[in-house]
Amino acid sequence: MSAPRRFNRVLIANRGEIALRIQRACRALGLETVAVHSEADAESRHVRQADIALCIGPAPAARSYLDADALLLAARATGASAIHPGYGFLSENADFADAVEAAGLTFIGPTGASIRMMGDKITAKRAMRDAGVPCVPGSDGPLPAEMDAVHALAAQIGFPVIVKASGGGGGRGMRVVWNAEELGEAVTLTAKEAQQAFGNPTLYLERFMQKPRHIEIQVLCDTHGTALWLGARDCSLQRRHQKVLEEAPAPGIPPDIIAEIGERCAEACRRIFYRGAGTFEFLYEDGIFAFIEMNTRVQVEHPITEATTGIDIVAAQLQIAQGEKLAIRQQDVATHGHAIECRINAEDPLSFMPSPGRITRWDLPGGPGVRIDTHVTAGYTVQPYYDSLIGKIIAHGTTRQEAIARLRVALAEMQVEGVSTNIPLHRDVLADPHFQEGGVDIHYLERWLADRT
Ligand code: ADP
Repeated sequence: MSAPRRFNRVLIANRGEIALRIQRACRALGLETVAVHSEADAESRHVRQADIALCIGPAPAARSYLDADALLLAARATGASAIHPGYGFLSENADFADAVEAAGLTFIGPTGASIRMMGDKITAKRAMRDAGVPCVPGSDGPLPAEMDAVHALAAQIGFPVIVKASGGGGGRGMRVVWNAEELGEAVTLTAKEAQQAFGNPTLYLERFMQKPRHIEIQVLCDTHGTALWLGARDCSLQRRHQKVLEEAPAPGIPPDIIAEIGERCAEACRRIFYRGAGTFEFLYEDGIFAFIEMNTRVQVEHPITEATTGIDIVAAQLQIAQGEKLAIRQQDVATHGHAIECRINAEDPLSFMPSPGRITRWDLPGGPGVRIDTHVTAGYTVQPYYDSLIGKIIAHGTTRQEAIARLRVALAEMQVEGVSTNIPLHRDVLADPHFQEGGVDIHYLERWLADRT
């Protein structure tokens, strides 16, 4: 790993709301920005606002945002000396991180070695277990080729189990198995899917937790040995393993339990010399945390942690990459109030089919404690090539109740025409008594959706 160097021009290797978020953080620190974009994104807000903008390819991501050579060429051509990958695209591609550093540029994120370790869920779980982080009980390694041995393992873990792809991501490459009869076919099918989707058929087994919550810990680590945890987020409201609404802190979980798991995450980071921002994801059931994976990048839901801690996570990423020491210590990190984020997607609120097209009306809410992260303006065309996230509404309040009330007002004010959005779904979820009570499990939203129809 090369020593951190100062930089003054950052290439943002992403698009949409996160590209704008990164651009703002750069500006606030006095850094220049290079926006690289596909032909489809030429009119995007962060492209228009960038110090330098460069088209790197046609609309399909494989030929633009995922084209590592094009990105490195663009950095060279524009004199950018650092690359921020955002989330998605190449953000968790260890080879890309290595290639950036090999080209003499700064990758704003962890080392390629850290990304590689966490990108393989089996090695990630092993490393975390060795570092004292509690994990979901399971096979502790790749599944053996012998089906008899797989059966023995599953019996030992106890049904139901979940077959997972070691290289999986984005909620894909997983299959729940309720009894021994289903196991053989589930293993064959998941291996085939994993090979196709991730180029890696390696599988492992975990106990399938039936009513857990998804709780995650945000960490921030500098290159001088300081590793901080910034509280917990509850991301249990999911559909098809995809997060829909997130909140911080996690309602109903005592702060001392969060502090204990937070400390373990920070200690694990110190042991593996982790640098930058990262997230430890856990399933939480019956008072027990069980690690499932670590994300080695900034997350979509980072603003709720920023709202409750007052820490600018993206600015911290940039400062850490320049070799700066974190200016705060763990005892300075406090959680104030409660924050909730709604992901606004251009999709049909009932069928969840993407809804690309031109946005003709885009009236945004405001008021105390309301933050909007979006790249969209009226007249913007939602492209069919990328994910459907068009913005995020984040509401912060002194209490959870106040955050919910502010968010409900914001959602009532928000008016979008020209494309369909999931705003009606968010309005209904926030009015739901069980959600208002707090602490629903990861299957709650799907049960609620099924009951509604
Ligand atoms: P990905 O990398 O694809 O997001 P994860 O391992 O983070 O995969 O799991 C995504 C989601 O799948 C979790 O938030 C949870 O809803 C569900 N899940 C994963 N492992 C288990 C498990 N052992 N038991 C129950 N649900 C699980």
